[in-house]
Amino acid sequence: MEARYYQKQDDQKIKCLLCPNKCLIAPGKTGVCGVRENDNGTLVLPFYGRLSALALDPIEKKPLYHFYPGSTILSAGFWGCSLRCPFCQNYNISQTTNKNSDYISPEKLVNLAVERHSFGIAYTYSEPLIHLEYLIKTAQIAKKRGIKNVLVSNGYINPDPASEFLEYLDGANIDLKSFNPHFYKKELGGNLEDVKKFLSLAAGKISLEVTTLVIPTKNDSVEEIEEIAVFLASLSPDIPYHLSCYYPTYQYTLPRTTAGSVSALAEHARKYLHYVYLGNVGFNETNTYCPSCNNLLIQRRGYDISVRGIKDGKCTACSGEIPIPGIDS
Ligand code: SF4
Repeated sequence: MEARYYQKQDDQKIKCLLCPNKCLIAPGKTGVCGVRENDNGTLVLPFYGRLSALALDPIEKKPLYHFYPGSTILSAGFWGCSLRCPFCQNYNISQTTNKNSDYISPEKLVNLAVERHSFGIAYTYSEPLIHLEYLIKTAQIAKKRGIKNVLVSNGYINPDPASEFLEYLDGANIDLKSFNPHFYKKELGGNLEDVKKFLSLAAGKISLEVTTLVIPTKNDSVEEIEEIAVFLASLSPDIPYHLSCYYPTYQYTLPRTTAGSVSALAEHARKYLHYVYLGNVGFNETNTYCPSCNNLLIQRRGYDISVRGIKDGKCTACSGEIPIPGIDS
């Protein structure tokens, strides 16, 4: 299948315009992501609909805490990635490809979501955005059938294709891996400003949540987490922000992040943001409280979710607006 978002160059070379890498691809080669290939001067998609994983997951696993809490969602994984994070927790699917994996058409994926009583489809596990043609086609069909579309991603995409996809998207959790442009460039092979641009585009259009994997000595200073919180608050102080604990994997051997250090960073982020959560640390600091009166709104024990203090989109104690889609009144 032919890709979109590219320009033909001289000598049958191709410039891919989907993500900020803007790879110049020679005939027979793929771009950095490994899934968009130059076939004699045409950009093709050998991994269109080739899924690396398919499962029903709690929405909180994505993590999305302010979108249909307590629901399960059909989650589809892909191959390849536009970044090269040496601490990737899914490197076995993000830094490799497998052309023999099962093909599932967009129509079939939506049918599976309906059959399995899933309220939506999550595009997740490795980097979905490098498969945007498949995502858009599936999301269009899903939307027509009342199925929600959710993205879990590094947010590394150019504004034009991003705007097109956002028309069909309902919720997303986007990684903001650091606020240090040198770290993004040197260790991940990306550009911080482009991720910020995507977050700015998505904020206000969809239910947006953001995650930072906190890595000792790499991105765990108070200053850096506060800079991220200030930036997110400039988009909306209601954006849920997840601070997740790193553990050694792939190429990183640094010791795992302690719960105490992430908890202390969360306190700093709460100076600017209403909803800050910890990830990878058991039940700690995963409840949702009213930002006005501190009433317990949603209690979380692992994936056991209980809505306690929200009625008709309002806090039951102070009547403050709590706009969380998917909570029955
Ligand atoms: S989507 Fe892939 S091929 Fe296209 S610019 Fe990004 S990394 Fe390169």
